[in-house]
Amino acid sequence: MKIGFIGLGNMGAPMAANLAKAGHDVTGFDTAGVSVDGVTPATSAVEAVTGADVVITMLPNGAILRAVASEVIPAMSAGAALVDCSTVDVDSARAVADEAEAAGLLAVDAPVSGGTGGATAGTLTFMAGGSDAAFAKAEPLFDIMGQKAVHCGAAGAGQAAKICNNMILGVTMIATCEAFALADKLGLDRQKMFDVVSTSSGYSWTMNAYCPAPGVGPQSPADNGYKPGFAAELMLKDLRLSQQAAESADADTPMGKVAAELYAQFVEGEDGKGMDFSAMLPRFEKRGRG
Ligand code: NAD
Repeated sequence: MKIGFIGLGNMGAPMAANLAKAGHDVTGFDTAGVSVDGVTPATSAVEAVTGADVVITMLPNGAILRAVASEVIPAMSAGAALVDCSTVDVDSARAVADEAEAAGLLAVDAPVSGGTGGATAGTLTFMAGGSDAAFAKAEPLFDIMGQKAVHCGAAGAGQAAKICNNMILGVTMIATCEAFALADKLGLDRQKMFDVVSTSSGYSWTMNAYCPAPGVGPQSPADNGYKPGFAAELMLKDLRLSQQAAESADADTPMGKVAAELYAQFVEGEDGKGMDFSAMLPRFEKRGRG
C-alpha cells in the first residue's frame, strides 16, 4: 500500500518504520523535520498524502489533528482512508471523521495502548471507531504495528474506549499508591502488603503488573527511579480528556474528577513532571493528612 504518515514523534516514528519494514511504500511528514529509516521524507503534509491509499496521523492533540485533517482531506484520493492513532478528545475525532466522510473518504479513530516500547516492537493494541469498510481497510496495517485491534463501534468509539480505560488506570493507580502509603504508616511490610493484595480482592493491573513500590512485584518503573514508562503528564492529558468527555456527555465521574485534580497538582504544582505516573507513591509517602 502507499501510506502517508503525519507526526513522526516518539510513537509515530517507530510505527512508520515498522510499516516500511513490512514492505509498504511510506511517505512521512513532521513539522520537526524528523527522518525515519525506510520512510520517504515529504516537505509538507499535502505532499505526504498525495496518492496515498491510507493516511495515518500520530499527533499531540485534537486541535492539531483538526488543523492537519482540514489541510490534507482535500488532497486525498477518493476512497482512501484517514486513520488517526493520536489520543484526542471524542468531539475532535467525530468532527474529523465527518469531514473525511463528507469528502468521500473512509475514516478511523484508532488510539493505541502499549507506549513507545509497543510502538517499536510492533505490539500495540488499537481500539478503533469507524465504519466496517474503514476498519477493514486499516486492519492489515494494525496487524503490522500491533498485536491486537478491537473495532469498538462508530466514529469516536476508539477514543471513548481509550479514555475510559485510562480513567480506570489513573484512579486505580492512585488507590494502590495511597493504600501502600497507609500500610507504611501502619507498620505493614510492603512485600507482605503485595503478597496479600495481589492475591485478594484489591488486586489490579497497577498492583500486580506495574507495582508502584520499588523492589516489590514484577519489574516496573518504580525499580528504575520512576523514570517513565508512562509519564504522569500523559496520564494527566488522558484524565482531562475523560473529564471533557464526561462534561459533554453529562456523565457523573467523581473518582475520575479527583484523579485528574491530583495528577494536575502533582505535574503542575509539585515535582511530578517527567516522572512515571506510579510516582504517586513517593508523593503520598511524604504527606500526612493536613
Ligand atoms: P510526540 O510529541 O513525540 O510526537 C508528536 C509529533 O507530531 C512531533 O514529532 C511533532 O513535531 C509532530 N507534529 C506536531 N504538529 C504537527 C503538524 N502540524 N504536522 C506534522 N507533525 C506535527 O508525541 P508521541 O509520544 O509520539 O504521542 C503522539 C500521540 O500518541 C499523542 O496523542 C499521545 O497522547 C499518544 N500516545 C502516546 C503514548 C506514549 O507513550 N508516548 C502512548 C499512547 C498514546
